[in-house]
Amino acid sequence: MENYSRAAAFIDLDAIYDNLKALKDNTKAGTKLCAVIKTDGYGHGAVPIAKRIRGLADFFAVATVEEAFNLRRHQVEEPILVLGHTQEEAFTRAIKEEIRLNVYDYETAERLSQAAVACKQTAYIHIKVETGMNRLGFQPGEQSLSEVEKIVNLPGIFVEGLFSHYSRADETDKQSAEKQHKIFSRFEEELSKRGIEIPVKHTGNSAVIIDLPQYDGDMVRAGIALYGMYPSDEVDMGRIPLRPALSLKAKVIYVKTIRKGEAVGYGGTFVAERDTRLATIAIGYGDGYPRNLSNKGDVLLHGQRAPIAGRVCMDQLMVDVTDLKEPVKVGDEAVLVGFDGKEHISVEELAALAGTFNYEFVCDLGKRIPRIYLSGGHVVGKKDYFEDDYQIRL
Ligand SMILES: *Cc1c(COP(=O)(O)O)cnc(C)c1O
Repeated sequence: MENYSRAAAFIDLDAIYDNLKALKDNTKAGTKLCAVIKTDGYGHGAVPIAKRIRGLADFFAVATVEEAFNLRRHQVEEPILVLGHTQEEAFTRAIKEEIRLNVYDYETAERLSQAAVACKQTAYIHIKVETGMNRLGFQPGEQSLSEVEKIVNLPGIFVEGLFSHYSRADETDKQSAEKQHKIFSRFEEELSKRGIEIPVKHTGNSAVIIDLPQYDGDMVRAGIALYGMYPSDEVDMGRIPLRPALSLKAKVIYVKTIRKGEAVGYGGTFVAERDTRLATIAIGYGDGYPRNLSNKGDVLLHGQRAPIAGRVCMDQLMVDVTDLKEPVKVGDEAVLVGFDGKEHISVEELAALAGTFNYEFVCDLGKRIPRIYLSGGHVVGKKDYFEDDYQIRL
């Protein structure tokens, strides 16, 4: 495996491709698939993912216009939708790069129209409708309907999409999602009555693709499922087979035996109840490995579980390896997330122990963790953040 110094995340790009394929196979024919690769692809790396699933994904979605610019800079030429807010300063560049912006008020559309006219190009937009999340979106009703009608007629504007987002589609009880879907459908119908047909209507996230395929619409937006994780443990995990794309590994950098009664780590929160073989692993909360896993999480070494002893430090953690069959030595590779022989630690296991959830766990993996990309059983790329670029004048 590719060499790394302390800790690394291995991203199986083929798993992401297969997950997307499985999701696509479970949507009705003709439904476009939008791959949500915001927050640098949920921490996995947006650019290599976009390149690997090229041709299979019809659309990409990111949270910020800067994320969209970065994809364009890396020759990602598919349609890209910005799900969040975009500041006016970025309008002209976004229009020139055919980046689809989310519009949820009339004034923004007006300013985009002016920018589009000024640069003699078309601004593609997706209009967001509020259906229950109460984050961003036009409030359904007469006023919004006439504002959308005005937007459709603005010069330089092409309303390509109409969309909304579910707040509770991942729960067993689908009443809330049902209500949101009804509100969206009604808004769509009202626009229709006014002669407005927007080509790409989309509301579905991963939970909808898995549990509510009848809500697919013209396009669905797959985020967490793309990476091989389920949006919650309440969705039907048997329906679409997914494979986690990420594994996380770190090196053993020191091994020793401490005496019964000795304490380990800050605060001395682990006290050895026996003479204890202890391994120090080169990963900590400074890398995004949660400190809440102190005295809770396990790591895998030689295919066996070893419990974390004491508090997770910023740059290291210690594990009790006394019970391992094979002796642990410096340079051994510990698996923090993923498979080691028959043993397995999932993101969900660690996230639950740390009091968080899978989405946050992967997004939080930090800048000190190089991402190593695999496809066809080979390393096909690598990214690290070891050398920072600054625009600074002191
Ligand atoms: C993040 C996000 C998604 C993807 O959600 P998943 O649960 O990860 O599939 C879809 N739509 C919007 C608007 C989002 O913000």
